[in-house]
Amino acid sequence: MSISEVFGANVFSQSVMQQRLPEEAFKEVRQVLENGGQLSMQTADIVAKAMMEWAMEKGATHYTHWFQPLTGTTAEKHDSFLSFPKEGQAIMRLTGKQLTMGEPDASSFPSGGLRATHYARGYTAWDITSPAFIKEQAAGSVLCIPTVFVSYTGESLDNKTPLLHSMEALSTQSLRLVRLFGNRRAKKATPSVGAEQEYFIVDRQKYLMRRDLIYTGRTLFGAPAPKGQELDDQYFGVIRERIGAFMRELNEELWKMGIPATTQHNEVAPAQHEMAPIFSTCNIAVDQNQLAMETMKRVATKHDLVCLLHEKPFAGVNGSGKHNNWSITLDTGENLLDPGETPNDNLQFLLVLSCIMKAVDEHADLLRQSAANVGNDNRLGADEAPPAIISIFLGNQLEDVVEQICAHGSAAACLEGGQLVTGVSTLPVINKDATDRNRTSPFAFTGNKFEFRMVGSSDSLASANTVLNTIVADAFCQACDVLEKAANFDSAVNEVIARNMREHRRIIFNGNGYSREWVAEAEKRGLPNLPSMVDAIPVLTEEKTVRLFEKYKIFSRSELESRAEIMYETYTKVNTIEARTMCHMAGKHYIPSVIRFITRMADSIQKTKNACPEADTQVQKSLLLRASNLLKEAQAQLTRLNEEIERLNTIDSVEEMAHHCHDVVVPTMKALRAPIDELELIVDKNLWPVPTYGDLMFEV
Ligand code: ADP
Ligand code: MG
Repeated sequence: MSISEVFGANVFSQSVMQQRLPEEAFKEVRQVLENGGQLSMQTADIVAKAMMEWAMEKGATHYTHWFQPLTGTTAEKHDSFLSFPKEGQAIMRLTGKQLTMGEPDASSFPSGGLRATHYARGYTAWDITSPAFIKEQAAGSVLCIPTVFVSYTGESLDNKTPLLHSMEALSTQSLRLVRLFGNRRAKKATPSVGAEQEYFIVDRQKYLMRRDLIYTGRTLFGAPAPKGQELDDQYFGVIRERIGAFMRELNEELWKMGIPATTQHNEVAPAQHEMAPIFSTCNIAVDQNQLAMETMKRVATKHDLVCLLHEKPFAGVNGSGKHNNWSITLDTGENLLDPGETPNDNLQFLLVLSCIMKAVDEHADLLRQSAANVGNDNRLGADEAPPAIISIFLGNQLEDVVEQICAHGSAAACLEGGQLVTGVSTLPVINKDATDRNRTSPFAFTGNKFEFRMVGSSDSLASANTVLNTIVADAFCQACDVLEKAANFDSAVNEVIARNMREHRRIIFNGNGYSREWVAEAEKRGLPNLPSMVDAIPVLTEEKTVRLFEKYKIFSRSELESRAEIMYETYTKVNTIEARTMCHMAGKHYIPSVIRFITRMADSIQKTKNACPEADTQVQKSLLLRASNLLKEAQAQLTRLNEEIERLNTIDSVEEMAHHCHDVVVPTMKALRAPIDELELIVDKNLWPVPTYGDLMFEV
């Protein structure tokens, strides 16, 4: 099998369209792809027909509008191409209307009050910029048409609509910015995204023996294995054969759907791995990441494995994230985050950099919020994950440039210009290899892109990129508002750069982001620290957030309010499921096993005494005593946890329910876990009802 034969075989790409569409129709599609707008219904009909014929040749019998509701996953409802225009007559058909619009029964998707259930209407509309593709699955091959999902009244009910708006805002403002530097050629700017995806692989048979993995995707109990990740022998280690076979099939499946998976390696934790595709246009990368996650799960099952995408499947070893590599590319090929080589370009780079500093500092809380999901609460701020505090890592050389600008910029404006150029002349040194790395930073400059590392492994990348695009667009906008009016552009641009850098220097941090000192230092600097999702949700509806998003028509106030409500609801639901699962496992699995163990000890003491009165039964006695004390503690916490879950029924507001979960339910879950994890170390392995951390992580 050669990659070039397989790659994109299941994608209705531009080159496929060029081959299959009449010239006029293809021209119109190209026009819309490049400049936006809509296809005429006549052309849509032609495209739909060509798409269906292509899909049928590939074995597809059904099509679906593929969209991303606010559940964070993707949704699809398959419709067959069959239609019955007259009685007794069956034909295969996909019309332009079916291609461009759909109306799934939307009543069961979260809408956060935007749409009462009796107004169930929700519409899907084709996102022509993300290519249609065929998904091969057990249910047969399906033509997937990427779409947005909006309500009857036009509010977005998905993750894609705001993302597309944010891309437009960033394009508009980036073009304003490069025009200032004399660039007349560029017509469009696009955020580029490369998503590194971390995941765990476990054996499916063992997985099936753990209700917590089945219901919640993570282990809710489990004592640490004797070996963890302390030897660092897993990181980049040789890939085990079984995992290798999985990765190989995964790559082929991803390539077929046009996902350019390139990198694969073992990650830090045992049984943890990573996959990274080559970067592409933001919305496509976001779509493809959703598809990649889904494919990972599907392919794993075929190998009798399970892919865990949860942010923290195992306590005590690294969790999984998703590194969102982000840059801005012009249609002429230039990357605005490339430091470049000539001072003139560098000045543009410095302006871009200073705007990003401003954007990230002013909206650190919003960026943090964009990476909030329930699973990530278990990961962020733990000592092997980025902290919940946003800061920027620039690397020594670039930080030095920023410092020079901050220090000398306060002198006479033209002098500053001179010095800036000197400072800038050090920039060409900052190529990829000269930039040192800092794995502890949530937002790190890596040569010609920023890497946002806070996003959780199971989360959609849409929110993070919507926020990034918007806040940077806004900082560009503010700079352009000043610079477009400036009498002397050169001095004005130096001033803007210096002002941005000075005012937002506090966001730069090159030290160890995992350290306790940083938490204290960040507080001194006034940087927000929002450890939990529950702390981060209110940012969505703050005045400054509403103003920002409304200015660029990305979210309305009611859309933001509904999203906040959905997040509170989700937080409560996920935690309740976890808590109930713990009650189930404690009551049905662990406690009965411990009782069996205690009985066995008691038997042993009795029988030993009978057989040999002078024998010492102290070991059995102390085990029995220790186990029964822990058992008592476990039972007490189990009762409490049940009560606290019940108490949720007495609370009306979703916000208060979430707080009750955060403040009471989650700590009680930890209190129940503690004695059971201790018992695991005492009780006979043969009696222990579920596979242990050692079984799960080291026996794949
Ligand atoms: P690193 O090792 O520095 O993280 P990699 O080369 O492994 O860099 O790239 C990580 C991810 O970043 C990949 O998905 C890659 O395609 C993506 N990437 C590389 N350059 C850019 C860029 N200019 N913009 C966005 N993503 C990029
Ligand atoms: Mg990386």
